[in-house]
Amino acid sequence: MADFNELELILKTNQRSYDLPMIEKAYRLAEEAHRGQLRKSGDAYITHPLAVAETLAEFGMDSETIVAAILHDVVEDTDINLAQIKKEFSPEIAEIVNGVTKLGKIPFSSREEQQAENIRKMLLAMSADIRVMILKLADRLHNMRTLDFKTEQKQRDTALETMELYAPIAHRLGIRQIQEELEDISLRYLDPVAYNEIETLLAMEKDERNSFLNLIISKIEERLSPTYNNIKIDGRVKSIYGIYRKVYAQSRAFDEIYDIYAIRIIVNTLNECYNVLGEIHDMFRPIPSRFKDYISTPKPNMYQSLHTTVIDREAVPFEVQIRTWEMNHTAEYGIAAHWKYKEGVEGKDKLDEKISWVRQLLETQTGTVDAQEIVGTIKSDLAAEEVFVFTPKGSVVTLPVGATVIDFAYAIHSEVGNRMIGAKIDGRMVSLDTKLQTGMIVNIITTNMPGHGPSRDWLNIVRTASTRNKIRSWFKKERRDENIAQGKAELEREFKRYNLSVSAEDMPVFLRKIAKNHHLNSIDDFYAAIGYGGIVLSKSMQRIRDMYMRHYKTTSEEEMRKQLEKTASHRSKKASSGVIVEGLDGCLVKFSKCCSPLPGDSIVGYITRGFGVSIHRKDCINADGAVRDLSQSERWVECEWADKIDGERFKSTVDIYGKDRAGLLVDVSTALNNMRVPVYSLIAREQPDDATGIQITFGISDLTQLQHIMSSLSKISGISRVERTVQ
Ligand code: MN
Repeated sequence: MADFNELELILKTNQRSYDLPMIEKAYRLAEEAHRGQLRKSGDAYITHPLAVAETLAEFGMDSETIVAAILHDVVEDTDINLAQIKKEFSPEIAEIVNGVTKLGKIPFSSREEQQAENIRKMLLAMSADIRVMILKLADRLHNMRTLDFKTEQKQRDTALETMELYAPIAHRLGIRQIQEELEDISLRYLDPVAYNEIETLLAMEKDERNSFLNLIISKIEERLSPTYNNIKIDGRVKSIYGIYRKVYAQSRAFDEIYDIYAIRIIVNTLNECYNVLGEIHDMFRPIPSRFKDYISTPKPNMYQSLHTTVIDREAVPFEVQIRTWEMNHTAEYGIAAHWKYKEGVEGKDKLDEKISWVRQLLETQTGTVDAQEIVGTIKSDLAAEEVFVFTPKGSVVTLPVGATVIDFAYAIHSEVGNRMIGAKIDGRMVSLDTKLQTGMIVNIITTNMPGHGPSRDWLNIVRTASTRNKIRSWFKKERRDENIAQGKAELEREFKRYNLSVSAEDMPVFLRKIAKNHHLNSIDDFYAAIGYGGIVLSKSMQRIRDMYMRHYKTTSEEEMRKQLEKTASHRSKKASSGVIVEGLDGCLVKFSKCCSPLPGDSIVGYITRGFGVSIHRKDCINADGAVRDLSQSERWVECEWADKIDGERFKSTVDIYGKDRAGLLVDVSTALNNMRVPVYSLIAREQPDDATGIQITFGISDLTQLQHIMSSLSKISGISRVERTVQ
């Protein structure tokens, strides 16, 4: 249990100088204010702010942060207010306390839209003063350490929020120690069975593991110590969550995991890093394609190190990380290293530069409700799977798996991306959606033609959020007029599709309301944001429709339907969706996944709540059942296929059964290839007694073509049955 003497001791042994009288004053104030309050554990409340302050002291944070930590709950839970803190301490400290209090009030919600808004608030708090977020992380750490005393529901909610939000933020800020502990504790509550399994496995051969590590360390020491001074070699078993992610997420067997062991070698200079790497590769056999140079290409959270996985003579693989002392400070403490090690050396500019991504994220994020993308951006470097590709001059570029040549171009420089007209991989021209693989040499071909820029289609091709942001910001800057026009047209189209009719005089009021709801100042800004893709209308329409409903109170679905029918006065045999819905023109149509209807199938439509009409096959089990349910039956409408369906590509899935033999899969793929059928997925499942089941999803234009494909497939030797998949 934390007490003030303990905190004082940590502060006194730190190398920086602290304003101890001010810290003690904060302690007296908080201790008195919280007196009588208890934590759920039964401890006096003051133990919590003290524990938070201790964590921050261990991280070498400054006096202001320590004082704010001690006071961080007084505004929320006691009579003391911000004005008092401002007067008795400083405006700076009051601001940190205020920021932390506000963060605490943001409720966590799994609802995407709400989550986006919450993250926006967090980013705002971070960009104002990053110490707010560091304090909040320390606060969360102590709350996680004492989570046992909360109710089961609260434990699960808090653990989920920590795993989804705080651990990724800690990771993004590079504060490894907090990140790993947050993840491990969260996992213990979220998946206790797996947690215990890994913990037991690790404990089982603990002595063996330790002696293995010690043996390796002494081998390396023996080799390096004659040549290198002031270096440090240590080893550890990786974190439980780290192992969990590999075992469960990548479904590998426990003993297949290379990086359970990590050896760390800390040296003095950059050159020594590469020299030591050479020595290691000379001593042990490196595993090909497991070498990563995070020194020349640091991770987004500033992490720098060389990683290599090698095998010793007993064939046990282990990872070796090589870095300088300074790189190690950043690896352990991330952004907090700024306070711990760089006092007086590094200015505020340098710190600003390190968290510039927060501001960038805020800028690109204004007006978007695409929570998945924001969370994705924060988590993106959590996805450890990366590819390493080369520029023609041999520099390495690190990108996530699935990145395209466009991502590569933008990773080099925004201007390279904006001026790109083509790309070569290993000397050959490739299409722009080509996915990169480790080892490729990529050459981007650019033009100097004035006015040339990226294409809007690229937004659907690229892999990383940062590329998408760069493309959007080009459109945002270069094409405002065009964006406004495009956004306006798009919005009108969506209004029509959802049948939202707003009178001309009401329109500006309604639009201003929507713009404000998206944190934008004017209607033009709103149009422009749609135009450059900052707002994805298909994702926002539900919210806009809700606002419309509240605005006009046309809540009855029957009324909506009548309104739909009124506006749909004429029928056309040509519909953009390829389907004509009886009595309704131009309504949003989607094809249900359960039965994947194709042109030629007899179909029926179902009016969903707010998502247009979903089309089923008449013989679909869902359609059949629902039609019989009379209370729902008014939602079913007759539908037919349009005469002309231009360029539509449908997807269809079939199951193939037969006897397994060598080359069967090849024959199936060849047959499909000969019929020029694009295959989206092919899954083969082994069945008992040499039987096999293959499920294939491919692109197709209508029922006739499907029947042709099915009959061709059934002629392949060994195949006994081909059926349309029912889900
Ligand atoms: Mn707290």
